Amino acid sequence: MAKDVTHFIDGALTPGSGQRSAPVFDPATGEQTGTVRLADVATVDAAVAAAKRVAVEWGDTPPLRRARILNRFLGIAEARADELAALITSEHGKVLSDAKGEIQRGLEVVEFATGIPELLKGEFTENVGSRVDSHSLRQPLGVVAGITPFNFPAMVPMWMFPVALACGNCFILKPSERDPSPALLVAAWLKEAGLPDGVFNVVNGDKEAVDALLHHPDVDAVSFVGSTPIARYVYETATKTGKRAQALGGAKNHMIIMPDADMDQAVDALMGAAYGSAGERCMAISVAVPVGEKTADVLIEKLAPKVRALKIGPGADPEAEMGPLVTEQHRGKVNDYVCSGVDDGADLVVDGRGISLQGYEGGFFVGGTLFDHVTPDMRIYKEEIFGPVLSVVRAPDYAEAARLVNEHEFGNGTAIFTRDGDAAREFAHQIKVGMVGVNVPIPVPMAFHSFGGWKASLFGDHHMHGPEGVRFYTRLKTITTRWPTGIRAGAEFVMPTLG
Ligand code: NAD
Repeated sequence: MAKDVTHFIDGALTPGSGQRSAPVFDPATGEQTGTVRLADVATVDAAVAAAKRVAVEWGDTPPLRRARILNRFLGIAEARADELAALITSEHGKVLSDAKGEIQRGLEVVEFATGIPELLKGEFTENVGSRVDSHSLRQPLGVVAGITPFNFPAMVPMWMFPVALACGNCFILKPSERDPSPALLVAAWLKEAGLPDGVFNVVNGDKEAVDALLHHPDVDAVSFVGSTPIARYVYETATKTGKRAQALGGAKNHMIIMPDADMDQAVDALMGAAYGSAGERCMAISVAVPVGEKTADVLIEKLAPKVRALKIGPGADPEAEMGPLVTEQHRGKVNDYVCSGVDDGADLVVDGRGISLQGYEGGFFVGGTLFDHVTPDMRIYKEEIFGPVLSVVRAPDYAEAARLVNEHEFGNGTAIFTRDGDAAREFAHQIKVGMVGVNVPIPVPMAFHSFGGWKASLFGDHHMHGPEGVRFYTRLKTITTRWPTGIRAGAEFVMPTLG
């Protein structure tokens, strides 16, 4: 029976009042497996109202108690991770091991957030003036929203809500309409863990739901992860309506391979980083920059046979290294990029277009694709493809390689492969990118650090999770206290100095 994906508001599933819906597919077979309800303004209003009703009480709940609920959620999610992984694979298409990996990385943020009593500890100074003390503390914002992309339907929401809830906020999640079910399972587990109704809500939907959240006067902050044009729009609209906002956008991550790098290690790293999750990762490496012609020749020689040998199959097949793309439309977009690379004169070493798998002829598959001699003026270099397509741009020296990274519109992640500590240090110091790897191809910061890019990869001041997440989801208050014995007689008209 086709599934009917609804919303989760005030502790219960609800169809909402919206009249529109969108299809949900199994990307491995290409078959429609259900529909997702698209929230209208009234449905979003209902979710925000449910959250607002309990916001003060939840904000006043001792952080230790909030942490205990998250701890119970952690236990439930760890015990039933396979169920969530299977749901992710069935709507996103990624291989099961990868789905489990994203759950693991998401749950690490929950683990981090369970330390909230420690993280919320403020500062205190005795005697900022004679018999005058000051202390500072962080308080929740109120009702906050998270708008998330299709590529990590469990992990990206978990970059946001564990920290937001731990800090004492109520949360409205608007997941991607392409893989909407994992969010509802997470909501059910949070309820089972003891989270009060209304504290965590899910509204499924598209632009209409996003706009309703952005314009809602009772939404205090918006976290967004998705493509750059929408990130810019969400950031500008949210801040214009007085909300705090952080909006993470697209990427074009370069990996520089120096002539002294261990080439086998670099090639293995590139295979995982470029083709894992079919390239649908914001930290995927989509550009390899070998330094020197010899390095480039060796790289292509070692890389091409491995790309041709990639095991492509449905995500549920334990043998598969790479699953399908998320939708037919996205596959069309990736194939168009490959055509444009050929038209622009890049050298197509491995062509992944047109593959068909026996028994899965309707699936949205594209094989591993490798371009050599890509130049910075080509569309396949300038734009994010978000598919299993790796471009090799040959650089004559390190300076040119670093210049490419620094001049690119995006600045999410980057990596250098080298044995030279000097080159690595120089790279880490001067590169204009938010997350940098030295012999680490996908330098995703752990939960207790913060995740975020620079330039067109992030709009706003705060990165996600870790200490930056706590800052984003709280407001600082500083209280200065003097008790009566310290108050001098009479009014004072001079600038108060407390000294
Ligand atoms: P997307 O921008 O199409 O969608 C993201 C969210 O915005 C979804 O919830 C979607 O419903 C909503 N949305 C889409 N169009 C909208 C519109 N016109 N107005 C308002 N809301 C709209 O992104 P996607 O295709 O789901 O995800 C892939 C993108 O996300 C890639 O660009 C990838 O690089 C990026 N991404 C970035 C990071 C990061 O950390 N920087 C992480 C994951 C994904």
